[in-house]
Amino acid sequence: MSTTQTRHIFVSGGVVSSLGKGIASASLGLLLKRRGLSVGLQKFDPYINVDPGTMNPFQHGEVFVLDDGAETDLDLGHYERFLSENLTRQSNVTTGQIYETVISRERRGDYLGATVQVIPHVTNEIKARIRRIEKRNGPLDVVITEIGGTVGDIESQPFLEAIRQLGLENPRHTVMYIHLTLVPYIETAGEAKTKPTQHSVKALREIGIQPDILLCRTAANLSDSIRSKIGLFCNVPAESVFSAIDVASVYEVPLLFHEQGVDDLVCKILEFDTPPPQLDDWRAIVSKIKNPARRVRIAICGKYVNLKDAYKSIIEAFAHAGVSHDTHVELEWVSSESIKKQGPEPFLDNVDGLLIPGGFGERGVEGKIEAIRFVRENGIPFFGICLGMQCAVIELARTKCGLEGAQSTEFNREAEHPVITLLSEQREVTNMGGTMRLGAYPAVLTDGSKSHKAYGKLAISERHRHRYEFNNNYREQLFGAGMIASGMSPDGELVEIVEIPDHPWFVAVQFHPELKSRPTDPHPLFRDFVGAAVKFRESRQTNNVIHQQSTESR
Ligand code: GLN
Repeated sequence: MSTTQTRHIFVSGGVVSSLGKGIASASLGLLLKRRGLSVGLQKFDPYINVDPGTMNPFQHGEVFVLDDGAETDLDLGHYERFLSENLTRQSNVTTGQIYETVISRERRGDYLGATVQVIPHVTNEIKARIRRIEKRNGPLDVVITEIGGTVGDIESQPFLEAIRQLGLENPRHTVMYIHLTLVPYIETAGEAKTKPTQHSVKALREIGIQPDILLCRTAANLSDSIRSKIGLFCNVPAESVFSAIDVASVYEVPLLFHEQGVDDLVCKILEFDTPPPQLDDWRAIVSKIKNPARRVRIAICGKYVNLKDAYKSIIEAFAHAGVSHDTHVELEWVSSESIKKQGPEPFLDNVDGLLIPGGFGERGVEGKIEAIRFVRENGIPFFGICLGMQCAVIELARTKCGLEGAQSTEFNREAEHPVITLLSEQREVTNMGGTMRLGAYPAVLTDGSKSHKAYGKLAISERHRHRYEFNNNYREQLFGAGMIASGMSPDGELVEIVEIPDHPWFVAVQFHPELKSRPTDPHPLFRDFVGAAVKFRESRQTNNVIHQQSTESR
């Protein structure tokens, strides 16, 4: 459907952070797309970092890398997964980027002697950026913009002012505001409390924004009387107040929104005349996630095991892969430092697979290496990602090639055997921000390898985020010790995937496959890794039965 003017939906949040604005925006995006509309999704983040690439995962969670190499907020991951589209760097804008542009323009003299101020110069730049994605692949029908942070924060004020102005400057039916808020349930009073929502909407209205729709995050569906009360105090019709209840799977959110008529109301406000959304495949995915036929246990051994947001896309990629096998993938978070202290056995003896995710810095690396040795020697399926691949190479070098001093130069510049070294293009780099090998690069697979089997083709493209790589000086030794390079950069220079063919499933990749997995299109390596884990579990169970029978008959 093509419209004359792109519509804009702004999603803000109130009361507390982490209410799920990203999921709410992505869910709405999915519903509108499935109604036949062309949808753009973007996030505006109020922090002053130019991008989240330099932030500690404890501060920010995962950095989501796009094809074009942009290091973005993890909500972009939700957008890509729900929309099944690859986004570009234009979809994540920060205060840091806005100021970078405004200040360099000022230095060039572009403001012709004016005093440069938040209003209008900063707000104009924000508005220009909001509208920038309207024309992506032809004019979009609708752009959904999530405003990071919480209404009332000092930092988000210029963004809210900019979206207020956009509402004023455009026809009424082309701009709408959705506010996500919290309605806590107080056990002792036996009541859902509306006051925090009232205050949050009051703060929004004070700056001139009247929300059209309220999405209320709550433990259980709001009663009609609560919806009326919220509507009355917040100046919105009761029918525009919706429940955003806590759900087991984020992929259920669009279905719940649709059942309540959220997308119908959005289309009414924005004057879109479309058929209802096509959601059959999505429903089937949710139903598989909620009612799996079996389960497997996979250990994830990393540094940030207490902060699941640091591994968001990996968690989602497992959910998608699970759907392919009608299996619930139970994730067991194992701290690499505990493995270092107590050895791998207590943590890995009972799992059906091990994944070592990406990471930076030396802490925990030795534990990861021990974990890899354990699964390699015991035939337990293994999947290594980025640092996980580098650790697999170090482990094999130490154990099978007699290179005891094998190490990555990231952890020891003077390593006796630097099997992992800095990429040559990184040697001169001094700035930390945006300077890694980032984004999509092609790779060529080895015919007949497990990777080839998974992808079903020889040419692939995957997203990267690293500074170090396999050291080609060690190719002969490593590849003579049972490892193969099953994926290479097209010029043959960079090892992108290693495998151990003589193992049920041992595949480690230099890139981040989790970033490209979608519920509607699970990543082939995650899919096959989970498949191998299912097989491993079944064979273990059979062995247990045989073992039991033979001991009973003794
Ligand atoms: N620290 C390693 C490198 O920079 C691995 C990076 C990662 O796992 N994303 O190469």
